[in-house]
Amino acid sequence: MSKSIDVELKQVRKTFGSNVVVDNFSLQIREGECVSFLGPSGCGKTTTLNMIAGFLEPDSGEIWIKGKRMNGVPSNKRELGMVFQTYSLFPHMTVAENVAYGLKLRKVPKAEIKRRVSKVLELVKLPHVADRYPKQLSGGQRQRIAIARALVIEPSLLLLDEPLSNLDAKLREELREEIKRLHLETGVTTIFVTHDQEEALYLSDRIVVMSSGKVEQIGTPLEIYNQPVTEFVHTFIGKSNKLPAAVESAADGVLTLRAAAGFTMKAPDRGRPLPAGSAVNAYVRPEKLRLAAPGADAGEANSVPGRVRQLSFLGAFAECEVEAGSARLTVRVQTAGEHARLSPGDPVTLIWEPEDVFVFSGEGRTA
Ligand code: ATP
Repeated sequence: MSKSIDVELKQVRKTFGSNVVVDNFSLQIREGECVSFLGPSGCGKTTTLNMIAGFLEPDSGEIWIKGKRMNGVPSNKRELGMVFQTYSLFPHMTVAENVAYGLKLRKVPKAEIKRRVSKVLELVKLPHVADRYPKQLSGGQRQRIAIARALVIEPSLLLLDEPLSNLDAKLREELREEIKRLHLETGVTTIFVTHDQEEALYLSDRIVVMSSGKVEQIGTPLEIYNQPVTEFVHTFIGKSNKLPAAVESAADGVLTLRAAAGFTMKAPDRGRPLPAGSAVNAYVRPEKLRLAAPGADAGEANSVPGRVRQLSFLGAFAECEVEAGSARLTVRVQTAGEHARLSPGDPVTLIWEPEDVFVFSGEGRTA
């Protein structure tokens, strides 16, 4: 049986003065899903979340949660769990009192509060800090308590607004694993706002990529990464080498492109046909480029001669910058072996498959 729709936004629009901050935003979130709003600063993620939370009213459009229309319903009547970027714990209350707060407001009996607080502290693996004050906790612990406080009321929806932004890199990674585990264990429908693409890819069942108040694409992490529908989505998620080019010919689903860098390459024609001479931007990701010996035969693949310019060791992998024609392309290489064999100045052949080339027309959509 298909899961029910927990949250629905229908053509939601929000303006501040003459500034359209969220435009024509429509989305359905299924029960138990974790959906991320991902986009650069100022694209309208928090505004959208605040409308779902009931802190802001949309100018037009509708918001539904668990089958009920929420327009005009105050935030405290929406039964939401919320966690923000800044640690929002009450400093004068102990951890246990902080976590119990929402249950007290709802007049839950004392014994029941005690049981639920200790259960949720077990869930976030911090039962031993119940009697401490927030200032006696690390940043990561405070955010886990903030999550516990949001979960303890058994919310219909959990809203997380950049909850990891104030943490250092290592803690961010730990806590995102924690959030994923908690989501799997509780099954609570979750919306996660972030501008960090890795966080969104890691945590989400689906990602809503936003720019300038508009939805660019909604899809699973794999769809967003491998089938971007706009140039914005492709370049915002992951690294990619940009090659401005002109279409030389298009036949049988294959485009032949003349890159401004001075070489030709093949690419799949994924969308509407482009006439010869059209200006496009072609992209290929660093992990899709391979290095072979100078003069190597690439068979059906794209290949150009190049020269190693620079090597950067990044731990698990390395990046090799290769000059090919007038372009400089970043190639991801293995640190075991490949990186050690390369030196700046080495001649190489760059090889990549036509299907790994993404082509976007002047309007920014997949060609
Ligand atoms: P960030 O990642 O920086 O939080 P965001 O994608 O969440 O960004 P929003 O906070 O939703 O973006 O803001 C979207 C736009 O709306 C921005 O241009 C912001 O300046 C503007 N904005 C937000 N709140 C208000 C307000 N209360 N009054 C006027 N403009 C606002």
